[in-house]
Amino acid sequence: MRLVFLGPPGVGKGTQAEKVAGRYGVRKISTGDLLRDAVRNRTSLGVEAKTYMDQGQLVPDSVVIGLVRDKLEDPGCAKGFILDGFPRTVPQAEELGKVLEERGILLNRVINFQASHVEIVKRLSGRRSCPKCQATYHLTFAPSKRGAQCDRCGESLIQRSDDQPEAIETRLKVYEQQTAPLISFYETQNLLSRIESVGPIDSVYENVTKVLAAYDMA
Ligand code: AMP
Repeated sequence: MRLVFLGPPGVGKGTQAEKVAGRYGVRKISTGDLLRDAVRNRTSLGVEAKTYMDQGQLVPDSVVIGLVRDKLEDPGCAKGFILDGFPRTVPQAEELGKVLEERGILLNRVINFQASHVEIVKRLSGRRSCPKCQATYHLTFAPSKRGAQCDRCGESLIQRSDDQPEAIETRLKVYEQQTAPLISFYETQNLLSRIESVGPIDSVYENVTKVLAAYDMA
């Protein structure tokens, strides 16, 4: 199983990637998570990336491509992987193609998750996360039972700096300009499947598994 989960920020692709990876025992590779780890650990890469991330801009292609290249070397990826939030530009997609070709493997499918602009803004602006254990919540759709504290570890929840209104607008513009062209990029390679990412998480997941089954992956 070698998949790319494509879609605007906040569409729920990370949540779905987590579920699929857990169910099928494949690796989820989220460049957003890898970059946030680097920021938290104050590595030189993290320091460079933080300015872009806080503003909702994309981190330079060379940085993220290096991260993904390293992760794909991981023996844990042998059974398969789901790329979540990568590629996000055409040059990243082209580079990914080269990296996979070097390894003699191909992508099986690219799943494009879609939802309306209004829905996405609602999801991003209500998102909260735990700075300690990285659990994520939503004020309305998936609130913590302990209010402003994390259910898992009790830490006070925070709002990601790039989930502030101004950064959300920038991220959605960046998505339209730089990432949305990947839909036709993968469509012309006959790799694209589309999923409406609306309604309960489990019903979206069911639609994901239908796509996987249709391509002999489930
Ligand atoms: P995410 O959690 O996927 O929404 O990513 C959070 C932020 O990390 C993005 O707004 C970008 O600043 C950065 N980022 C994540 N993935 C990429 C990527 N593939 N290319 C460039 N920047 C990225």
